[in-house]
Amino acid sequence: MEQLEKSKMKKKDIFEKISGHEQVMFCNDPKSGLKAIIAIHDTTLGPALGGTRMYPYESVEAALDDVLRLSEGMTYKCAAADLDFGGGKAVIIGDPQTDKSPALFRSFGQYVESLNGRFYTGTDMGTTMDDFVQALKETNFISGIPEAYGGGGDTSIPTAIGVIYALKATNKYLFDNDALTGKTYAIQGLGKVGFKVCKHLLKDGANVIVTDLNEQAIKEIEQIGKKLGNPVTVVKSNEIYSVEADIFIPCAMGGILNKDTIPQLTVRAIVGSANNQLKYESLIHELHQKNILYAPDYIVNAGGLISVADELYGANQERVLNKTKTIFSSLLEIYEQAALESISTLEAADRKCLKTLEEQKNRNNFFSRFKKPKWHFNE
Ligand code: NAD
Repeated sequence: MEQLEKSKMKKKDIFEKISGHEQVMFCNDPKSGLKAIIAIHDTTLGPALGGTRMYPYESVEAALDDVLRLSEGMTYKCAAADLDFGGGKAVIIGDPQTDKSPALFRSFGQYVESLNGRFYTGTDMGTTMDDFVQALKETNFISGIPEAYGGGGDTSIPTAIGVIYALKATNKYLFDNDALTGKTYAIQGLGKVGFKVCKHLLKDGANVIVTDLNEQAIKEIEQIGKKLGNPVTVVKSNEIYSVEADIFIPCAMGGILNKDTIPQLTVRAIVGSANNQLKYESLIHELHQKNILYAPDYIVNAGGLISVADELYGANQERVLNKTKTIFSSLLEIYEQAALESISTLEAADRKCLKTLEEQKNRNNFFSRFKKPKWHFNE
């Protein structure tokens, strides 16, 4: 009897945990060793879209927490970028170095197929395009595929372009002039996104201070700066927070805005592509106290998601660039709304997304939200 009560309690706990989500699917295939969780948070705006992460989670609970949090984030990201997609995400429990096999990803593809278009997925941390070429054998509900398979190509290009529009919007808001020249930018990370942003800024004649752990990337950008007659300043990775600059551009890893780094900052704004820059959300108030404007990362880095979503209509670069341009007006609106309502830019961004979701919910929908999208690619 006690046992029954205990198991009832457990069931209730799980349902409480997923109460904000539409659907959570546990995928268990002993033959291939697949253990995965697919979470669909909200399909108000369209089928769920989100990457698949592979990670050796220490427990199923940790994997579930991660997939619930990430899929909810995708609902906001899609709404913010005005995409007709909802929020979803998948996690595969396993070590990406040792536990991968073609059979595992084919099996995962079959689970995705079984959702019949309610969930579209692709690469994320721990998964690669090669993995998804296996999944593609079982399902077409995959996005972010190589150009050779009809995909939209390297997402870091639209992501970097989006960062440039976000920088322009920030300059417009702070200095009433969207030009990039005449300002100093501190860039953390010269990877796929940061390097492109840096090159664009150098070409525009801006002053740039950079840091990266990768010496090759530093050498390459130094050469480009020299060629353009606009040399970059290089600093050590722990020095980037305290340099004198107008805007800090984090393009490396998350959690870099924390109790140690925020006191060092002297910039007027933070506008970067890195995901989850704030170690925890309430730190935004410390930025506010220092009069530092924070551009919410999921607004700034939407270019990649725009490209992945666009691919499902048949990849079209021009359409991706046009949509990426809207990051300028969207961010400006968030800055203005935050000032008007005396709220943080993060709250203003979240409110904007919730409004989009509410409007769609209140609209007359003559078709089921769960209809198969008529633009399903490869048909
Ligand atoms: P990347 O791995 O290509 O580049 C990251 C760079 O940061 C590397 O050059 C690395 O050496 C450097 N780096 C790491 N730690 C550092 C440190 N402590 N100090 C200085 N440099 C450091 O990644 P990316 O694709 O350019 O993405 C950058 C960020 O933007 C990531 O947080 C990513 O999640 C986010 N993002 C990327 C895309 C995309 O399309 N690539 C889209 C959305 C968000």
